[in-house]
Amino acid sequence: MVFVGVHGEWGRIDATQADLGCGQDRESIHKAKPPAPLTCDECGWRLHLVHKTHGAYELWFLRHAAHAPHCEARLAGEGMAHHLLKLDLAHHARAAGWSAEYEVAAPDGSWRADVMATSPDGTRRVALEAQMASLSLTDVKARTDRYAAAGVEACWFTDRKTVPWLDAVPSVQIVRPEDGGAVQVTAGAARFEPEWCHDRADCDRNSWGVEGAVPCGGHGKWAAAGPFPLDRFVAAICANSTRPHRLRVPSWEKGETWRWVTRRYFELEEEQVRATSWRKQVRERLAAVQQRQREARAAAEREHVAAIEALLQRQKALVKPVVEFVFHEAGVYPALGRDGIPEFAMGVPVYVRGKPYAVICPVAGRVPALRDVLAPLVLFAATERERDRIAAQAVPGQRVETLTVELPPPAPVPGPREHGGPTVKQAVNRMFGLDRSEEPFEGSANVGPGTGTAAAPPRRPG
Ligand SMILES: [Zn+2]
Ligand SMILES: [Zn+2]
Repeated sequence: MVFVGVHGEWGRIDATQADLGCGQDRESIHKAKPPAPLTCDECGWRLHLVHKTHGAYELWFLRHAAHAPHCEARLAGEGMAHHLLKLDLAHHARAAGWSAEYEVAAPDGSWRADVMATSPDGTRRVALEAQMASLSLTDVKARTDRYAAAGVEACWFTDRKTVPWLDAVPSVQIVRPEDGGAVQVTAGAARFEPEWCHDRADCDRNSWGVEGAVPCGGHGKWAAAGPFPLDRFVAAICANSTRPHRLRVPSWEKGETWRWVTRRYFELEEEQVRATSWRKQVRERLAAVQQRQREARAAAEREHVAAIEALLQRQKALVKPVVEFVFHEAGVYPALGRDGIPEFAMGVPVYVRGKPYAVICPVAGRVPALRDVLAPLVLFAATERERDRIAAQAVPGQRVETLTVELPPPAPVPGPREHGGPTVKQAVNRMFGLDRSEEPFEGSANVGPGTGTAAAPPRRPG
């Protein structure tokens, strides 16, 4: 069946319109004797006007006379389901105040719309395609693109159960109930279901390694809308209250998903898209700040380790000269306590006849708390700078002797990705004599912690 033909006198006629689209009436050519001069626009074969009643519709269409040749227009007719859907689409568009025509072809033949609906002011044209046969994804996309290039909106309608292009172009799936009820749109339209954390400034969901509050990016999802009556859908297209939209949530979805959505749902998605973007910015800023803080802490730890290393070096280098110095002064060989301990400001205590006599390289910053303890002792420094630092913190008149010694060059502070240097724990263990695997300095009594300073067994260096 076809709907458009050529009348010998009136020109183009549209069988679906009561005035045949040219101000005439169907009855005058229906079953007329002699037959009306109707021919096929495509193949030139004679046509008859046919009238049938189908459900709610009075169907009028044109049929090729017997023995018609191969004809594209006739082949395009896809049977009753296709025809009824086209009638529905045109009917609903007209009910919405639009004009609707069947089989409207592009001037250059690049497309041919099943139903072309045009807004009253002519500014919008929408191709309503009743696509009941299988059509490849490539074809349907190419045809949609050609409509877009011509400034024509398009919506594909299908009653097929599985359609490869339902996500790829603006389209809906329809079902015509057996009982003759209204056609329903069953897929292709979506509604957005928003979901937000109770406190939008502090999302409940995992923020992947970032400490502190991260704003909620929204946890809403798209859900299938419908089923709802086809007339409502066509009316919404005409009213521009539903638009084809490529879904942006979830953002990680790679493939494109087109759905018909209303403005309200578009706005809800937009709100989530913005919140997600804001959340990402905040996360990235927080992550960057926290990364810098971690790096700063790591750098400070490395410096701390280096300072401990340097202190141990100085103490080690001073052992021999201090022993000589004290021997000359006190007349007996002194005994050395274990490595730097808190009771002597991390310096190495030197004992003469079992009593504290001197301290090698106490840490200047720890001196004030121990001023009175240190006041009667001789403090040793390895450099003038160290001497000044210690003197500045000690009681006025504190005796601080500098014994200039050859110091090894300071070990380079290891970079963040180097693993050569000792860890803080190792350095501190060494400082506190817990690391028995090596002897920090010659001649020191390397005893465990908790044995107390005075109790540390003095020992004559060899
Ligand atoms: Zn024909
Ligand atoms: Zn949240």
